[in-house]
Amino acid sequence: MKDAVTLFGDIALSKKTAAAITAMGFEEPSPIQSQTIPLVLAGNDVLGQAQTGTGKTAAFGIPIMERITEAKQIQALVLTPTRELAIQVSEELAKIGKFKRIKTLPIYGGQAIERQIRSLKLGVQVIVGTPGRLLDHIRRHTIKLDNVRILVIDEADEMLDMGFIDDIQSILQHVPSERQTLLFSATMPSEIMALANKYMKDRVTVTISKEQLTVPLIDQIYYETRDKLDGLCRVLDSETVGLVIIFCRTKKGVDDLVASLSTRGYISDGLHGDLSQAQRDRVMKKFRDGKLDILIATDVAARGLDIEHITHVINYDIPQDPESYVHRIGRTGRAGKKGVAMTFIQPREYRQLKLIEKEIRTRILRRQLPSPADILE
Ligand code: ADP
Ligand code: MG
Repeated sequence: MKDAVTLFGDIALSKKTAAAITAMGFEEPSPIQSQTIPLVLAGNDVLGQAQTGTGKTAAFGIPIMERITEAKQIQALVLTPTRELAIQVSEELAKIGKFKRIKTLPIYGGQAIERQIRSLKLGVQVIVGTPGRLLDHIRRHTIKLDNVRILVIDEADEMLDMGFIDDIQSILQHVPSERQTLLFSATMPSEIMALANKYMKDRVTVTISKEQLTVPLIDQIYYETRDKLDGLCRVLDSETVGLVIIFCRTKKGVDDLVASLSTRGYISDGLHGDLSQAQRDRVMKKFRDGKLDILIATDVAARGLDIEHITHVINYDIPQDPESYVHRIGRTGRAGKKGVAMTFIQPREYRQLKLIEKEIRTRILRRQLPSPADILE
């Protein structure tokens, strides 16, 4: 493989795209970007693997915006696993394509379909969508994918975890086979390789630090306690926390914790799949705008979310598997900022914690819960 470039200036980008990147505050490309962008610009199919928070969106977003023409046809299609991600990725692509006036539209369930149909009629060049709603448009003939030249499957491991494989296959039947295919994932289980083998031609694989699953800037600690609620409150009182995201295993767990915290005087809000899209959007906006400090979520609801200034990720319930742990803690320590990941365990969950530790090859350090004397006034 060619040597990776180290500066955006080393990549042959148009003035407009370069200016957009500068306006976004990106100074130099991340490793996945410096390796991937030139390959995509050269027309290769690329399979990209890098941890969460390493800039995979712009790794495909920048070359996509370079390759799109003015023609008001859907030229690139990005598939994402969740609504929140569709919105977030679409916003980032819109920023990259801003000066070229490329229109990017998110397409997701929960938003009125008529509104999406109206936007589609105005003409867009890039679609970022979740599988279910995209299929809905395909069946209604309200979306035309005949001109798609670049297809991206983003957060592919999560797509498969969420059971979207059949939907993806159905969508791909409507995308021209003469196209460039890009697939991005934080992890590379065998199912992803199978997907890549089936849909990608002469692909180039880019892997960034596969030995290390987690982001080193995150302090990883755990607390062992029989009373997790009390422990959580002590932590919230003693630490100088910015935005906190707390993970629970179930939707009911989320609702219960919001209620328990509320009776103890902490304001939080929940995010899970049973809320309406409008409710989810409202909670996310409050959190993003810093008007809500504590967000309590299920894994699914928080997948891939990129929110600045999350200082603490708290696993109120220990994740089911190491990959889920990596995804959760990837919500903090984004783009070089420091973060803390805390996991609460009951004594009987110790083995589960050790299993995660072994798999991610990083020590998760035991801490004592802060005592009342440590609590901030
Ligand atoms: P991933 O998809 O790998 O989890 P994202 O694409 O969501 O990561 O990027 C994580 C964060 O880093 C985002 O806030 C993004 O805007 C920011 N970012 C991406 N590339 C750069 C860069 N080259 N310089 C600075 N920040 C960046
Ligand atoms: Mg991503």
